[in-house]
Amino acid sequence: MRFAEVIGNSTVVTALRSMADSGRVAHAMLMYENEGCGALALALAYVQYLNCSNPSDGDSCGECPSCRQMSKLIHPDVHFVFPVNKGPKTSDDKPTSESYISYWRDLAGTDPYFVEADLQKAIGTEGKSGIIAVAEAKSIISKLSLASVYDGYKAVIVYLPEKMNQEAANRLLKSVEEPSEKTLFIFITHAPEKVLQTIFSRCQSIRVLPLGKEDQERVKALKPSDDQEEYALFMEIFTSLMDSLLVKDLMAALDCSESISALDSREKQKAFCNFAGLCLRKIFMLQQNMPQIADVRQDEKDFYDRMAAACSRKFCSSIIPVLENVVAMIDRNVNSKILFCDLVNRMFINIWR
Ligand SMILES: [Zn+2]
Repeated sequence: MRFAEVIGNSTVVTALRSMADSGRVAHAMLMYENEGCGALALALAYVQYLNCSNPSDGDSCGECPSCRQMSKLIHPDVHFVFPVNKGPKTSDDKPTSESYISYWRDLAGTDPYFVEADLQKAIGTEGKSGIIAVAEAKSIISKLSLASVYDGYKAVIVYLPEKMNQEAANRLLKSVEEPSEKTLFIFITHAPEKVLQTIFSRCQSIRVLPLGKEDQERVKALKPSDDQEEYALFMEIFTSLMDSLLVKDLMAALDCSESISALDSREKQKAFCNFAGLCLRKIFMLQQNMPQIADVRQDEKDFYDRMAAACSRKFCSSIIPVLENVVAMIDRNVNSKILFCDLVNRMFINIWR
């Protein structure tokens, strides 16, 4: 994750960037957020920036080996700790984060704005409050005792330290108090008052602010839709629209605009616009030779590759603002048939340029 991909909280981004640039890297940091506001995204972007071998313009490159491993959450020097419980997805009797790490990667890799309930669902322990127990602390201490694989920072990102029990905190305390060189702890909490004082008092704290309405919409668009049907419908409309445009079939493309304006609420029409914006960004990333950022689903790869090859290079960057404008116009009650007809016309004109 690059700083550029973080939604909102630009002042925190600026603070983290200048900490990294000036070398004043806090060895223990506590990020306090209302859940779902992006503390994990910020932490990931920060660690990626610190460890990037080719940063420029205040952001990580997204392409060096370290950045690529960070984007898949498999960087060998970056460890994740989160509250767990026994469950059907692991046979471990005393599970630690490691027992569930592949589920964590799937979840946080697609949507770093997940909430605690999403995590419980992902690891198959719905409704059971997790805990960070002493086995976890031991595992972290042993991981930190190993030499780092790269020459950068070793990092431990602890999601919800308020779920850490006293014994685990006692074990970890020394590492937090006197970290070895180039080692950092980032604690992400939703309830700072519940974080054990011994840990809390050693941390530099950062407040991650609640997101504005627009940013909330962007976060929502990142989420794997609860409603698979809606995703399938949006994807179907989008693919037939793009295919019609590419064969210069304006009538078929206008049929698609009818399908969009026929969506049964203004919220759905706006959701479609946001969805289409995300699809265009994927095409754009592929055109920039950045498939690792494009994050295309395997079953949709053929479609996106085809679009990236066929669309004009300027298509995505010229249509995304139009989509944003359509969303604003829907809010102002402009007739949606006219809006979507105009949108499709603009796409038709721009796709080949
Ligand atoms: Zn990099």
